[in-house]
Amino acid sequence: MNEAHEAASNRVSIEYTRKEALLNNIPGMLTYALGSVILFHLWVLFGVLYLFFCIIGIVLFWTLICSHCPSYDKRCCPCGYGTISSRFFKKGDPSQFPRMFKTYIPVFSLIWIFPLLGGVILLLGNFTLYYLLLVLSFFIVGFVLVPLFSRVHGCKDCPMKEKCPWAKQRKLTFRLETRLDKYV
Ligand code: SF4
Repeated sequence: MNEAHEAASNRVSIEYTRKEALLNNIPGMLTYALGSVILFHLWVLFGVLYLFFCIIGIVLFWTLICSHCPSYDKRCCPCGYGTISSRFFKKGDPSQFPRMFKTYIPVFSLIWIFPLLGGVILLLGNFTLYYLLLVLSFFIVGFVLVPLFSRVHGCKDCPMKEKCPWAKQRKLTFRLETRLDKYV
């Protein structure tokens, strides 16, 4: 393990209780629930397959990403995945965390993309106020609430934030937002 990763591993002093970890999962769970309702309206089988895909996606996240995270087997993981991962999967090499994250996160992003596409198709085929509110709720929860929640809470305390591609991307976006603010 190189110095940067060792330093990151040592910065794992924050510990979340089970209740906090459970609460931190609510935005994500709400995303899956709203996504499945949208796809159920399109075709029941799509809704079922989507829920199945979400479950597989979470399990793959535990095995491919969380197992390489310094929060593996520790209570400093905001959503409790670190301890769940350690119960079922072997520990990976933390220096591989950014690579694993970059490689597999596009696959997990399909959890957001499928319901969004489904919502657009649903609205084009049968525009109703109910469908509009449903798709808007999914968009707000999945694309605003989840990133905001991780930015102000989960990522803020994460020991991997210096190495994590997602956190770096957020830092870049934040810098761009700050620059743009000067001209508005
Ligand atoms: S901090 Fe993220 S990557 Fe690390 S164990 Fe928790 S959920 Fe997994």
